[in-house]
Amino acid sequence: MKYASLGWRWLVVGNRVGVDVMATVRFGEQKINRDQLPEGKVLCEYCTAKCCRYFALPIDTPESFEDWEFVRWYLLHDRASVFLDEDNWYLLVHTTCKHLGDDNRCGIYETRPQICRDYTTDNCEYEDSWTYDKYLETPEQVWEYCEATVQKKGRSIRSPQPPLLPVAH
Ligand code: SF4
Ligand code: SF4
Repeated sequence: MKYASLGWRWLVVGNRVGVDVMATVRFGEQKINRDQLPEGKVLCEYCTAKCCRYFALPIDTPESFEDWEFVRWYLLHDRASVFLDEDNWYLLVHTTCKHLGDDNRCGIYETRPQICRDYTTDNCEYEDSWTYDKYLETPEQVWEYCEATVQKKGRSIRSPQPPLLPVAH
């Protein structure tokens, strides 16, 4: 997983590898183990461009009830989540780069941002095995986490309990 981050991908375009791939293998159609990568091939050829489908930004560590209210607000939005990794919290937005093509290639390869150029496959999210220290994806999870960690008595961020229904006799 990359942070402060960017959706990104490393491609080879305009050389022999790229031409062969265009001709024979659609990007992302086949997945192999990283250690089975054939010589001269690029791992991205076997990936669905996972790193171009989100961005993640560091956020201040939520420490107070008010901080967690901000986090809850983030998670009231579609495709947003927050995670903790190595003592740092991040806002993760699951959204695809506008320039990712249907073939999982970068549509602005020559002018892609520096952050996309700098990223490498060395420690990327190609595998499906990465985990987070903590991961919250719903406002309800924020309630529970806040209640368990910082919430003072009488300051619940949950909606008040509705009155009981009348009992018919
Ligand atoms: S997640 Fe890794 S393998 Fe997949 S496109 Fe990004 S850098 Fe390439
Ligand atoms: S600019 Fe290209 S490499 Fe960067 S996130 Fe978008 S599609 Fe991926």
